[in-house]
Amino acid sequence: MDEQRTEIASLGEFGLIDHLTRNNETMQAGTMLSVGDDAAVIDQFGKQTVISSDMLLEGIHFDLAYTPLKHLGYKAVAVNLSDICAMGATPTHITLNIGISNRFSVEALDEFYEGVYAACARYNVDLVGGDTSSSQKGFVISVTAIGEVSPGEYVTRSGAQKNDLICVSGDLGGAYVGLQLLEREKRIFLENPGVQPTLQDKAYIIGRILKPEPRTDIVSWLQEKEIKPRAMIDISDGLSSELLHICKQSGVGCVLHEDKIPMHNETREMAFEFNIDPTLCALSGGEDYELLFTIAQEEYEKIVLSEQISVIGYITDAAEGAHLLSRQGNKHKLTAQGWNAFEA
Ligand code: ADP
Ligand code: MG
Repeated sequence: MDEQRTEIASLGEFGLIDHLTRNNETMQAGTMLSVGDDAAVIDQFGKQTVISSDMLLEGIHFDLAYTPLKHLGYKAVAVNLSDICAMGATPTHITLNIGISNRFSVEALDEFYEGVYAACARYNVDLVGGDTSSSQKGFVISVTAIGEVSPGEYVTRSGAQKNDLICVSGDLGGAYVGLQLLEREKRIFLENPGVQPTLQDKAYIIGRILKPEPRTDIVSWLQEKEIKPRAMIDISDGLSSELLHICKQSGVGCVLHEDKIPMHNETREMAFEFNIDPTLCALSGGEDYELLFTIAQEEYEKIVLSEQISVIGYITDAAEGAHLLSRQGNKHKLTAQGWNAFEA
């Protein structure tokens, strides 16, 4: 079946913007003015505003060989909403900038926007503007996410205190092994185009890399239970690197328990198949977009009520450094690349 291909040039820039935003509906009461003017207008009704921006570049952050455009649109929004969650805030709006070459058809961009709108609908976020430009080669995506938080209630990376418990949502390492699997199947396909990828029973880890979900549910659960994290960050680069950010910016140290790091069975199995230490996938893998935060010890009774949250260690004085306590009971210095196995 021939797929229809409409050239972007046939619509022109303004025609394309109109086309991509023709069904754009706003859901937020605070959206006073959306797409169509020089700027959007948002009323945050006395809340404080949280803003975060991220770029996604073809060949650097994504590979269209195994990333469906719809997933890419969803992920571009999701990873930005995750940054808003990491501030303990609720995402409300995004703007989306794209740089595109004539390699893309209008239909291809429609698919991308389908993912964008799906993420917006799922997370009750309004797309209120953006910019559209031509790009000579790669697909360039930039999203700015806006969120709201009650005055003074935002959570930074710098509030962790000695004896705080270190908590993480969901499970870790899945996105990394998912990516390794997609890269392997791409190599096999390039060497032998007849071979179909074998991705059965791998839905979980593939979903972790292609369709991450921002943990708005964790933020609202914490608010409901009146648990205010002292420090929080989202896991885009791997547990070690994010935990070291919290330690550095809070001026503290930490002990992380290897046996407490939450991991999905599929992640562990895939790691063994690739001959990688599953712990290393969690520590250095990244792209899991879970929330890492610290709480006062008194909150322990409340935090255990959530099956979605694991306590994985505790905060120490800065002088004690940042360490991983292995399953065997050995202490390893935590480094941004993971941990140094030779240093006891
Ligand atoms: P300006 O010349 O002021 O930059 P544009 O013509 O670029 O205005 O944009 C017109 C309207 O369309 C603005 O509201 C802008 O935010 C919105 N817009 C432009 N590109 C996109 C896009 N890719 N997705 C969503 N909205 C867009
Ligand atoms: Mg513009």
